[in-house]
Amino acid sequence: MHFCPNPDCAYRGWVGWGNLRANGHPNGGPWRQLLCVVCRRYFPETLGTLFHGKHTSVDLIVRVIACLAEGLGIRGTARVFEVDPNTVLQWLVEAAEHLQAFARHFLHDIHVNQVQLDELFALLSAVKAGEVSAADTSERLERLPQWVWVAVDPESKLLLAIDVGNRTLAIAQRFVHHVAQVLAPDCAPLFLTDGFREYLTALLTHSGHWVQPPRRQATGPTPKPRWMPRPQLLYAQVVKTVRRRRLVRVRHRVVFGSLEAVNHILAPLGWHINTAFVERINLSIRQHVAAVGRRVSTLCKGEDGLRQQLALYHVYYNFCLPHASLRQPLPQPVPTNGTGSAKVWRPCTPAMAAGLTDHVWTLREVLLYRVPPWPQPAEG
Ligand SMILES: [Zn+2]
Repeated sequence: MHFCPNPDCAYRGWVGWGNLRANGHPNGGPWRQLLCVVCRRYFPETLGTLFHGKHTSVDLIVRVIACLAEGLGIRGTARVFEVDPNTVLQWLVEAAEHLQAFARHFLHDIHVNQVQLDELFALLSAVKAGEVSAADTSERLERLPQWVWVAVDPESKLLLAIDVGNRTLAIAQRFVHHVAQVLAPDCAPLFLTDGFREYLTALLTHSGHWVQPPRRQATGPTPKPRWMPRPQLLYAQVVKTVRRRRLVRVRHRVVFGSLEAVNHILAPLGWHINTAFVERINLSIRQHVAAVGRRVSTLCKGEDGLRQQLALYHVYYNFCLPHASLRQPLPQPVPTNGTGSAKVWRPCTPAMAAGLTDHVWTLREVLLYRVPPWPQPAEG
């Protein structure tokens, strides 16, 4: 996973070219020093990770980030580890930057059959009662985006994209674009959403093309070209009617494509048109992301703060958390050390199910991973 960072070196940014040598632990520190034998530069193995240049114990930083990933707020985490809340916030900010690069490095050219999209209401309040006048409060609250946008593949359970923004057409467009960038260029999945109408426009914008309607008569003006969905675009909605907080009716609607084409994708799984999985993941986000939906006085409640906690959740959920429905039975039970019962399941994360990696990552591994500046051929 290491590469030479020297911009003047021809081997810069390439992994596995055999140009690096370990050079021991300088000053008896925990990290090795690496030598690029091509350009003769030395660099520490933590370069480009959040551990670089920090004297704090790695275990402490990893456990603080893990605590945030499990959904304890910044102040709560700071109290547990007896660290200043601003230090915790600083580590989260640095970790989030790294994790966004990590997610971009792994999530690209993905092939899926389906994408479920949903928006989750997030209560963002940057103001505490009594501190600001009511007029200020309403003005500030209006400016805060209040929705978390989520896109998942219900088969591998992979969280494709997660974003924050208002529930508007502009943000729907941006989010659909974001999802499309993660998918392979030739991947044309079935999109499933709730009845929120801006998805229709956003998907049509993204997967449409100009069509020239034929002339109705031999003479007369040529009809204007029309922007139409591409034939491979499949899109179905689950429209729910809620009255007094009770679900009274669920309707299914195929918006683009035919019901036959939609069922061709869903029937082999024994599924009907649904958005059940993305709704379940919303629940998991509420449990794991402290800034969503809890009226706690947490630091980091603005849009940026929420973005950082979501960046952490995105990678933690995809790479570190085995998903119960993905586990596979082991051919032979494996005895555990200690008195517990034998292991009979092989844990599997969404990233493993999607073929992005072959093992369950620890958060420590993720945080220590040096993200190369460009894709590496072995992975492509
Ligand atoms: Zn070099």
